Amino acid sequence: MKAVVISVGEELVSGACVDTNTAWLSLALAAHGVVTIRHVTVGDDVTDIATAFRQAMSDADLVVSTGGLGPTPDDLTRQGLADALRQPLEHSTEAEQQIRALFERWQRTLHESNLVQALIPHGCAVLENPRGTAPGIAHDTARCRVFVLPGVPIEMKTMYEQHIVPRLSGGGAVTLRAELRCYGMSEAELGERLADMMARNRNPLVGTTASGAVLTVRITARSCSESEALRLLDAEQAEVRRRIGQGVFGVGEEELEDALAKLLTAQGRTVATAESCTGGLLAQRLTNVPGSSAYFFGGMICYADQAKTDLLGVSVELIEVHGAVSEPVAVAMAQGCRARAGSDFAISTTGIAGPSGGRPEKPVGLVFIALASPTACEARRFLFGEHLTRCEIRDRAAKTAMNMLRLHLLRREPTGQT
Ligand code: ATP
Repeated sequence: MKAVVISVGEELVSGACVDTNTAWLSLALAAHGVVTIRHVTVGDDVTDIATAFRQAMSDADLVVSTGGLGPTPDDLTRQGLADALRQPLEHSTEAEQQIRALFERWQRTLHESNLVQALIPHGCAVLENPRGTAPGIAHDTARCRVFVLPGVPIEMKTMYEQHIVPRLSGGGAVTLRAELRCYGMSEAELGERLADMMARNRNPLVGTTASGAVLTVRITARSCSESEALRLLDAEQAEVRRRIGQGVFGVGEEELEDALAKLLTAQGRTVATAESCTGGLLAQRLTNVPGSSAYFFGGMICYADQAKTDLLGVSVELIEVHGAVSEPVAVAMAQGCRARAGSDFAISTTGIAGPSGGRPEKPVGLVFIALASPTACEARRFLFGEHLTRCEIRDRAAKTAMNMLRLHLLRREPTGQT
């Protein structure tokens, strides 16, 4: 079944109010196997509203609209639907009774203008609104079912459950979803590895999104039975994991620090941080996880050269010869931090977050990250790119530092599972 979701309101097209109804409805419909093919947002203009309904009714099996059912002259959804159906608006006694009953229950005075809400297009049905004064409207054409709901989210959601869900069941379709979170590759690379799985006509459906260099693989499996949908979903997740390997760090809403928390706890290891360009961001991320004191010793923010020397024992000569943003200094920072903290691991960051301070040989976005462990100190050079903002470069550096430790810990895991 295909759906179009329409939201009506000047405040939505102007940007004054964020449209959360359409996203909520699309997800809710998908759970019943209904695929939303389009979102349409229109202002308080009766012609635009009528056009939106007409187009939606010709393209979809189900149309759900929200908003514009209030009692004021700018609430024009009733009229827009009437125009689209080429039917007159007429007074509904049933709708009036519902409105009067609600006002009595709330002990409020009913104004004449409230009875505008009892007008519905000829041939349509009234939908009770248990949470507000605007009744909804339902209409069935030969090939399309239309539901018109109020815009207030709590009213819309209650009426969706009460009036739409019972009419959706029958097909018995079940939709299940999973999200795998990945780090350490570009979206293009991820897309190449999953290319054949991302064909649009497949079941399960696989898609990717990127946010702050964290990539999410979304898997949606549909079937008429829950057990079959689950089987499809599990098999698809296993295949994604096989292709991406240790690039997958978590599921759902998990962050890199959550993945690290699991590994450090399972291995009984501790870590400390020595941060220059990330200025404490790494420590902040690690301490996002409740109970992180079990494995996180603490961190030193060594921003000025002198702090690197005084707090971490990095030699003045080393900084003079190589510069503060260099691999030898990153290594000395991590080793100095580990020795002082007495932790199993120490991670250091030093780089040029910009926007100024870049030079051809050391451009903005250049970051060195070192990881000192009981046996060695591994250092890596990253070029996060001059196009990124200072904030983004620091964010990438903190995430990449966590990922370095995560991959190091995974190499010790017998199974390599996240
Ligand atoms: P009622 O008469 O019960 O208020 P209505 O259909 O007239 O219902 P609107 O006037 O369109 O509802 O919207 C009322 C409020 O609901 C808006 O001011 C806004 O805060 C919220 N709202 C409307 N549409 C949306 C939407 N698509 N997403 C999120 N919030 C919305």
